[in-house]
Amino acid sequence: MKILISGGGLAGMTTAYWLHQHGHEPVVIERAPDLRRDGYGLDFFGAGYDVAERMGIIDALAKRQIFRDKEDSIAFVDDDGRVKVELKVEAVRQVLDGKYMGQIHYNLEEVLYDAIKDNVKIRFGTSIKAVDQSSAAVTVTYDNGDSETFDLLVGADGIHSNVRGLVFGPEKDYAYFMGYYYACYHIPDRHQLRKMWENYTEPGRQIGAYHTDREGQLAALLIWEAEDEGYIPPEQRADKLRTAYAGMGWITPQLLADIPANGQEILIDSVTQIRMPTWRNGRVVLVGDAAGCMTLISGQGASMAFGCGYALAEELGQTDDWAQALANYEHRVKPQIELRQLKAHDFAKQFVPGSELGIKAQTVIMKLVTYQAFSGLLKEQFVGDSFLKTAALHRLPQSKGNVIGYRVAGKLHETDYQTLELSLDEALQTADSVNLLLQIEEIAGFKRDALWEDWKFGRQYHDKIGKLAVVGDQRWSKWLARLSEPLYAKEAQHFALADINQAWEWLSR
Ligand SMILES: Cc1cc2nc3c(=O)[nH]c(=O)nc-3n(C[C@H](O)[C@H](O)[C@H](O)COP(=O)(O)OP(=O)(O)OC[C@H]3O[C@@H](n4cnc5c(N)ncnc54)[C@H](O)[C@@H]3O)c2cc1C
Repeated sequence: MKILISGGGLAGMTTAYWLHQHGHEPVVIERAPDLRRDGYGLDFFGAGYDVAERMGIIDALAKRQIFRDKEDSIAFVDDDGRVKVELKVEAVRQVLDGKYMGQIHYNLEEVLYDAIKDNVKIRFGTSIKAVDQSSAAVTVTYDNGDSETFDLLVGADGIHSNVRGLVFGPEKDYAYFMGYYYACYHIPDRHQLRKMWENYTEPGRQIGAYHTDREGQLAALLIWEAEDEGYIPPEQRADKLRTAYAGMGWITPQLLADIPANGQEILIDSVTQIRMPTWRNGRVVLVGDAAGCMTLISGQGASMAFGCGYALAEELGQTDDWAQALANYEHRVKPQIELRQLKAHDFAKQFVPGSELGIKAQTVIMKLVTYQAFSGLLKEQFVGDSFLKTAALHRLPQSKGNVIGYRVAGKLHETDYQTLELSLDEALQTADSVNLLLQIEEIAGFKRDALWEDWKFGRQYHDKIGKLAVVGDQRWSKWLARLSEPLYAKEAQHFALADINQAWEWLSR
């Protein structure tokens, strides 16, 4: 299929890479004239790391990573610059099974660009002004007046997505302001920062600085409580920061004195999540921040942008039915984004505390997670698991009301049950019980922990699953159906794959 991707950022380029791998013909348009935008540092792990591994770009990324030294750390300091608490980046890396990097945003973009530039057309300086879709195709009109027709259109154009505005409606309908603004800018390194990212917090405002990938350069990152003022024009940005940070301690006056004169060099925006009821509209689908911005507080926007692109392309590679593929993509990734949005929302007050007491609590929590025994908290806080581990679970589009079906492709892993639980709970809000279809192709990588998860799942849902249809051709699928009847469901039956329609019928009776 010929697929247009609006936005050559992380989600757009990852989508393009994998669509090409799956035999489609992606074209990327990017509004900016070239690469290298947004020089802020970010944590890169989870699904993003897994996808980057599958693309073979980990080595290229590793060469450009920041926080590469074992002694590098994230620290909170007092007014005099004394370290109150320090979290070693190495500890974070260990909790995430070694799959963690600090990256500068534009380096991720550059590595992605190198990975796709020989196979995918990228048109810089291009944007869409109109979208017109029919049952047969989607036609876009570019800013220069030219038109072009595609099979699908992917909106990968970030939090203020143009495609979302044109096809799904105004941003305000989906924006959830979290009560903060953030800003980031580069400054010369004249502050003798230790090998760490130093942060200083006062009630309702936080400021920090860290070394970028360039010798002699620091990035300053500011997050503060504010009313929603929408877009802040470049000429007002420096004043806005000086007002918000007036009278703040530590080296704040020096960090403010170095604010770039050119307001374009200050990245500033509200901390706003994008929450949508659906990411699909006919032949148009959204990925990355355009679909479900989680904000910098989640620490996973880049990782999930990679994850979205990978999952969408994989679904489009598995079936010729594009509508089903888009539905599968949404069912697979949206709950994962929503989970992370929820966590970010709950974490926000802890991230930038509003009171002295809150700052003390922030320090205590940071101290706790530096202890090995509590390191799991860190993973839990950031939902550090890659959702690709659960990616084998596809909700079937025939699911309706309290009759729900899943195809489990590849490894059946213990964390799959989290997704199952989420979806069953939704149906159980309007019905006393659900009937479940499980189409299982393969059980592999079944860990001992899975039996424990299995048992918990059975205990929680055994009264609530009326019928369970296990669909599959392997011998163990019959065995699974037999075992399920006392464990998970009141009634369970096995069906061969060729008889899947009979399974749906049986469940709907
Ligand atoms: C300060 C800060 C810190 C962060 N920290 C982390 C972190 O630690 N970990 C993490 O995983 N994430 C982090 N994030 C979030 C992460 O950077 C984003 O979630 C991620 O970049 C989203 O990728 P995307 O491709 O969806 O959108 P973007 O990266 O925003 O890319 C969108 C692209 O679309 C282009 N575009 C926009 N409009 C148009 C148009 N009309 N036509 C064509 N193209 C258009 C843009 O120029 C851009 O290239 C952070 C973000 C910020 C701001």
